[in-house]
Amino acid sequence: QVKNSHHLEPEGLRRCLQDVIAKKVKIGTLATDQHLMVGKMMREDFSKIDHQFDAWHCSKNLTKKLTAKANTKGCEALMQWIRAISNHLWYSASTCKKNAQLLKEKWLSVLHHVAGVHSWSGGQKFKKCDHGPMSDAPPGMEVAYLKRTSPAFKALKDVVSATALLKLLPKLTKFCHTGTLEVFHSFLLRFCSKRQYFPYPGNLQ
Ligand SMILES: [Zn+2]
Repeated sequence: QVKNSHHLEPEGLRRCLQDVIAKKVKIGTLATDQHLMVGKMMREDFSKIDHQFDAWHCSKNLTKKLTAKANTKGCEALMQWIRAISNHLWYSASTCKKNAQLLKEKWLSVLHHVAGVHSWSGGQKFKKCDHGPMSDAPPGMEVAYLKRTSPAFKALKDVVSATALLKLLPKLTKFCHTGTLEVFHSFLLRFCSKRQYFPYPGNLQ
């Protein structure tokens, strides 16, 4: 019924939404992954629903981009920061109080923190890191801050302040995540392999 599997997701979602709306359910917010066609469809055909992105997918995509950068020559120092930066996106979305500007400033503040700067001027809503004083780490465990002139920092800056990433931040303000759905799917996979057909009722019993 659709051109190919790429068109399957938006079409399935469209029918699902129409069905739910026909049953008089009011949908305030919908969280999905970053499927481009889904975004376009939500903008054009379901503009009254607040379309948010799933924070887990965003943080996974970010990790992928940072890993690719860290694997390029001269940017190896970035590798040890990837987990913390991915956590920072999670933290920024979960503490932004649904405020897009605060979320953006919190997110961009990571560029200060990785350079060893924990308070700064220029922001409107967020001017210093939320963490307490940095205690001295035991010898050998010191945090290796990135120099602002290093290739690793420049590569990080490219990812963190990319227009595409900054544009998706307003869709993370409600900190939606589909963790429970992912757990449900992986649970199903244990008993109903994708390789074999199970009728719908069989899947859920
Ligand atoms: Zn800091």
